[in-house]
Amino acid sequence: MLGSMGDSGESTVIPLSDPDGHRQQPPGAPQPWEKTDRAQAALEGATGPEPPAPPVCPNCGLVGDRRVTYYGWHVLLEPDMPVPAHMVPAWHRWYVDSNGTAWNSREDEPAPGAVCRVPHRIACPGLRLEEVGLWRWLDAVRAENARRAQRRADREADPGALPNAG
Ligand SMILES: [Zn+2]
Repeated sequence: MLGSMGDSGESTVIPLSDPDGHRQQPPGAPQPWEKTDRAQAALEGATGPEPPAPPVCPNCGLVGDRRVTYYGWHVLLEPDMPVPAHMVPAWHRWYVDSNGTAWNSREDEPAPGAVCRVPHRIACPGLRLEEVGLWRWLDAVRAENARRAQRRADREADPGALPNAG
């Protein structure tokens, strides 16, 4: 089956008349833009807990540094832990503006020397790395590095080679 990601005509969606369309939206009903915000929140890990729930991690029970984002969802940051941004994988680099609002720099490369915050989720003792779910690319990097290290060790184990202190 071909994946038709291209210009295959997405015009098959015909708006149906909504039987409830005449009804007024109840207060608190999701607004059209909230879907986008929810997707962004999920992508960036701004997954609450939302107030008035306490800023407590549901997986380990520790209190986090909860911050609101510019799209209204909340993120639980690891408290008091600024990290050199280049050590943090893309999509996990958070910054807090002077107004207290947090934002995720997504895949943007950090400026040299930049310091960021990390979401509690990637530091949570209640989750295994595979449950955190966003570190698989690092698994691949580690596997490749393990192969490279093994090859290097094999070369250095050559009887003619001197031990390398480097
Ligand atoms: Zn936790």
